[in-house]
Amino acid sequence: MIFTSTRSQQEMTSAAAITRGIAADGGLFVPCEFPQLSFDKLIELSQVDYITRAKEVLKLYLTDYTEEEIDYCVRGAYSNTFDNNEPAPLVEVAPGTEMLELWHGPTCAFKDMALQLLPFLLVKAANKTAPGRTIVILVATSGDTGKAALAGFADVPNTRIVVFFPENGVSDMQKLQMTTQVGKNVAVCGIEGNFDDAQSGVKQIFTNDAIRNELDQMNMEFSSANSINFGRLVPQIVYYVSAACDLIKKGALKAGEKFNVAVPTGNFGDILAAYYAKQMGVPVDKLICASNRNKVLTDFLATGVYDRNREFYTTSSPSMDILISSNLERMIFHASGNDADLTAALMKELNEKGRYQLPPAVLEKLQSEFFGGFCDETGTENTIGDLFKNYHYLADTHTAVAANVLEQYRQATGDKTLTVIASTASPYKFAASVLPALTAEAVPEDGFAQLEMLSKLSDTPIPAPLAGLKGCAVLHKTCIAKDDMAKFVKDFLKK
Ligand SMILES: *Cc1c(COP(=O)(O)O)cnc(C)c1O
Repeated sequence: MIFTSTRSQQEMTSAAAITRGIAADGGLFVPCEFPQLSFDKLIELSQVDYITRAKEVLKLYLTDYTEEEIDYCVRGAYSNTFDNNEPAPLVEVAPGTEMLELWHGPTCAFKDMALQLLPFLLVKAANKTAPGRTIVILVATSGDTGKAALAGFADVPNTRIVVFFPENGVSDMQKLQMTTQVGKNVAVCGIEGNFDDAQSGVKQIFTNDAIRNELDQMNMEFSSANSINFGRLVPQIVYYVSAACDLIKKGALKAGEKFNVAVPTGNFGDILAAYYAKQMGVPVDKLICASNRNKVLTDFLATGVYDRNREFYTTSSPSMDILISSNLERMIFHASGNDADLTAALMKELNEKGRYQLPPAVLEKLQSEFFGGFCDETGTENTIGDLFKNYHYLADTHTAVAANVLEQYRQATGDKTLTVIASTASPYKFAASVLPALTAEAVPEDGFAQLEMLSKLSDTPIPAPLAGLKGCAVLHKTCIAKDDMAKFVKDFLKK
């Protein structure tokens, strides 16, 4: 399998694409074609466990890894790290609506699905392309990626990891998860700014030649654990394949039938993986792209105009508080028939003016695949309440946004197709926002008291990784101006 950049013609192996994270021209690495899975193959995979399904999908993309390497990586990532050894169970909420629960890993959010595997893929890839070098992972996080990356990379030999998060843009639990992280190779730092500031700061460090040279002299090299890295995307394709297998297994999906997918969307990585699965032959029909009040994608899918020049809102679903959806670049590339020149031109406009407009043919293609919708704060809270009252399903704020937009889609179109909702976080991770949907009682200030209250009200157990944070020492207290990120990285690497 050959990988190219979204902005110019290139030829890379998967190992090179994963080690570099981002192409030298600023573009993202994408596969030149989509390997195929027949329905018979899906039937076969419906009989095996998640690890075996993951290996079958990975080997189609990572053709420069040996089967032994893939086996080692997948086992390391998914053996005994997820509840009941089931990384992505499918849970029926109501007839025709299934939750694909992606939050049973060590940090209780769906980022674990990819970030438990990425360190293994990256270390193997670096061994192939840059033997002996230390890989430096830079992460900008809106909350969940940071902890998941820290959990995946802590004390992994030959790696260092630096995580930046918006000091006032993550939940108390998310912050505590990150600032208590142990590990000799980790640094965690708040910034005065929002997620987009953190993300563009990281991008600037990545593409700064002077810093790259300094690293080179220390025998180090940058890579990215953000969802722009193809090594993040490929593990996410697996769970949509797995969802199709589980539907087949329980008799809900037969040859010739399709299902829809509804995804709470921020950086467009999760829903892009669903699109990739569809391109591989997984029988997905509509891709329902759900946004919160930061509805830049809803507007984009309706009009073809991407415009980030707008007010930024902090919401109860912070992992979707994003105005620049990085992975959309890959979608534009594919939807335009792999047109790197067009993609490069649009991204240049985005960079310079914060705005671009799709050619009508590309917009039409996107509209045939995606439905875009959004849900405000009241809608989110009401949906959490309704799901619990009507179906005894306890959803987090992000998942609720998707469920709400799915309902809007069903009412607008009358489409009754079986739908899989990507359930992306444990409700306990966002207890302060979930509780008001369930009770009129006052929500306690203390994060741990919130967990107790949610457990009592819903009669579900507090996830062990969150309960275990109680009493952990806060090890990372630094908060810096967004312009000081490069200096912070350099100081850490010299330690
Ligand atoms: C990251 C995240 C999302 C958004 O996923 P993207 O791949 O960035 O679109 C949704 N929900 C939760 C809980 C997340 O952590």
